[in-house]
Amino acid sequence: MNKSIKLVFLLFSIISYVFAANFFAQSKTELVNLKANDIFIPANSTSIKIEGHLGRKINLCIDNRVMAQSIKRIIRPFRLRFENDFGGFRCEYWGKWFTSAMLAYSYQPTAEHLAVIDTALNELLETQTPDGYIGTYDKQHYLWGWDVWGQKYTLLGLIAYYDQTKDKKVLEAACRVADLLLTKVGPGKVNIAENGLPLLKGLPSTSILRAIVLLYERTGNKNYLDFAKYIVHQWDVPNKFTHTGLRLIENALAGVPPIKIDAPKAFEMMSNFEGVLELYKVTGERKYLEAGVKFGNSIRKYERMITGTASNQELWCDGVREQTEMLPQPVETCVTVTWMRYCYQLLKITGNPIWADELEVSLYNALLGAMTPKGDWFAYFSPLIGQRVPSHQQHPDVGLSCCVASGPRALLMTPRWAVMGSREGVVVNLYAQGSYGEKLSDGTNVNILQATDYPVGDEVNLTIQPAKTKKFTLGLRIPEWSKKNELSVNGMTIKCVPGTYAKISRTWKNGDKVILKLDLRGRIIPAPSGAPDLAIMRGPIVLTLDNRLVEPQDTCVWLLTSRDSAAKLDTTIKSSPSLETNPPVYEGYVRIKQCLLPTDTQEYLTLKPVKSKPDNIWMAFEVPFLVRPSHFFDHHVKTLIMCDFSSAGNLWSDKNSYRVWMPQPMYMDYMYPSPIWRLTNPDAKARPEVPGALIDK
Ligand SMILES: [Zn+2]
Repeated sequence: MNKSIKLVFLLFSIISYVFAANFFAQSKTELVNLKANDIFIPANSTSIKIEGHLGRKINLCIDNRVMAQSIKRIIRPFRLRFENDFGGFRCEYWGKWFTSAMLAYSYQPTAEHLAVIDTALNELLETQTPDGYIGTYDKQHYLWGWDVWGQKYTLLGLIAYYDQTKDKKVLEAACRVADLLLTKVGPGKVNIAENGLPLLKGLPSTSILRAIVLLYERTGNKNYLDFAKYIVHQWDVPNKFTHTGLRLIENALAGVPPIKIDAPKAFEMMSNFEGVLELYKVTGERKYLEAGVKFGNSIRKYERMITGTASNQELWCDGVREQTEMLPQPVETCVTVTWMRYCYQLLKITGNPIWADELEVSLYNALLGAMTPKGDWFAYFSPLIGQRVPSHQQHPDVGLSCCVASGPRALLMTPRWAVMGSREGVVVNLYAQGSYGEKLSDGTNVNILQATDYPVGDEVNLTIQPAKTKKFTLGLRIPEWSKKNELSVNGMTIKCVPGTYAKISRTWKNGDKVILKLDLRGRIIPAPSGAPDLAIMRGPIVLTLDNRLVEPQDTCVWLLTSRDSAAKLDTTIKSSPSLETNPPVYEGYVRIKQCLLPTDTQEYLTLKPVKSKPDNIWMAFEVPFLVRPSHFFDHHVKTLIMCDFSSAGNLWSDKNSYRVWMPQPMYMDYMYPSPIWRLTNPDAKARPEVPGALIDK
C-alpha cells in the first residue's frame, strides 16, 4: 500500500469509528447485557413531527407549560432545603418537570429548549451537597416524608439527560445521590419499606426501584442491582406498617384487585410496578414480567374508567364499577399519566397492541381533557360528570401541583410510541397526521407519512418512504374495538383482525401507499356494574353531553340503538288504537331496549357529524334518543348533540357542565350537577384559576 492510500484508509477508519461510536452513543444506554430486551424500540423523537389537532396540543403544552416554567421557583426549595415535615413533596417537582422538558427537547431539539434544560440542570447540580444529596429536606430530616420519592424523580431527570447527551458528569451526579441513599438505607440500616408517611406504608419510597435499576443498567454497578432486589424482598417482610408486607408481586400474580392490596394509593402503586418491569429486563425473571402484566390487566378489569384513567381521592376505588356514580374527587391527573407510562412500558416489553389501545383512549380522553385549552395547566381531578377545574397550587412558593408537574410527562411521550421499531420492521401504533421517521434494525431509514384527520374521519393514508427499496414488515395496529376494517397496499386488499397488528411483509419502495379504514360507528357501552347507565364511544373517543350543546329541559330520554331506530320507530303509535286488534305495534314497543347489559353483544348507533359547532369543540355529533311521553303513544326521536370528552367542559368555568354516563331513562332537567368545584378541590379557598403570572421565566 502506498503512503497516500494508507492515509486515505486510515482516515476512512477513523471516520467510520467516530461514526460508529457516535451511533452507538445515540442508540445504546445500557452497559449491562439485558436478559430481556424490549420487543418494540421507541422511535427517535427528533425524526417525528405530529401535526393536526394532536400536534397542536403537544406544541401548546411545550410552549406554554414546559418551556414557560419558572426555573427559579422550581429550584428554590432545593437551595433552601427547608422541608422538615411529612407533607413536603416539593422534591418531586424538578424531576417531574425536567423529564417532560427532556421529552420536549428530544422532540424539538432547538437551541432555546437546550438553554432552558441546561440552566435547570446546572442550577440543580449546584445544590448538590458534598455527600451527594440533592433534595428539599434539611440535613436533620434526610429521608423524612417524601424525600426518597423526590430523589426518585431527581434521578429520573438526571438519567433522562444522560441518555440524551451521554454527559458522564450528570450520570455521576445521579450515582452520588443514589450512593448516599445506599449508605443510609438497606439491610441493617433504615428499612425502605418503613420509610415515609405511615399511611402509605412505604409505597412512595420503594418506588425508587425503577430509578435504581436504570442506574444499574447504565453503570453496571452491582450495588444497585442488589439494592433493587432488596427493595422487592422487603415487600414480603412484615414491618411496622403492615403485618404481612405489601406483597406486591404475589398479589399481582394472584390477580388481587388493586383496591384490596394494602395502601391502595393508585399513582404510587403503579410507580412501583414500573420498577418491577424494569427489574425483569435486567434479571430475566419471568415472575416480574408476569406480575407486571397481571397488575396491568387487574387495573383494566377493576379500576380503569371509560376515559382511560382511574382513582377517586387519589386511591383505587373499584372504578370500573363506580365510574357511573358522582365521585367526590375522581381521576387524579398523576394517575392518568402513570397509567399511560405503565401502558407504554408494557407495550414496549410485550409488543401486545392492547396497551396501545389503552394509550390512545387515555391520550384523547382523560389526558387531553385534563389539559387547559392553552396547554398551560392541568386539572387535579377530572370528573366524568361535573365541571373542569384547574388544579390549585399545592405549593404556591413553587407555583405547582403534583398533577400540573405530571401532565406533560404523558403527552410528550406520544412521539415515542406513535411509531416504533420492531424486530421485523416498523409498527404504527397511532394514526395521526404527520411524518414519522424510524430506523430498521440494519440502520435503513424509513419515513412514514400519515395523511388523515382520524379520529375525526375514519381513513388513514400512509405513504411509505424507505431510504432504499427494502424488505421488511410494516405492522399496523388494528384496535380491538374496530370490527369492520378495510386495508390495502397499492390498491391490493389485505386482511386484518381487530386487536392485532396487521403485518404486511413485502419489499417496500419509496412511495408505496397504504390505506386503512377503521370502524368509527358509535358504540353503546353499558355500565360494567350492570347499573342502568349507558355511554357512547366512537373509535377511541368518549362522547359527552355538554350544556353549551344540550341544555337541561323537562323531558326524559332513552338512547336509541341503530337496530331500534331502523326497525321499530316506524311502528310508533300516533293515535290510540285498540291493543287487541294491533298486536304487532305492541311487539314493536317492547323491542326498543331501555338498557343494555355488559354481557350483551355490541350495539351500535347512528351518529351524524354536526356541521356548525363552537370553534373550541373538536368534534360533535347528532345522537338519536327516544322520547316516550306515555306508554304506547307519541314516541318520537329527539336528537341531542354530543362532543368529544376532551372538549366537554373546556370553558373551565362554573357555567360549563358535562356528563359521560347517561341513566336510562335520563331526566334532562337533572343532567348536570350544580356548581361543584369545591367537591373536586376541597383545599382551595376560591375556585382555582390558571396562575398565568406564575409561569414567567
Ligand atoms: Zn397529582
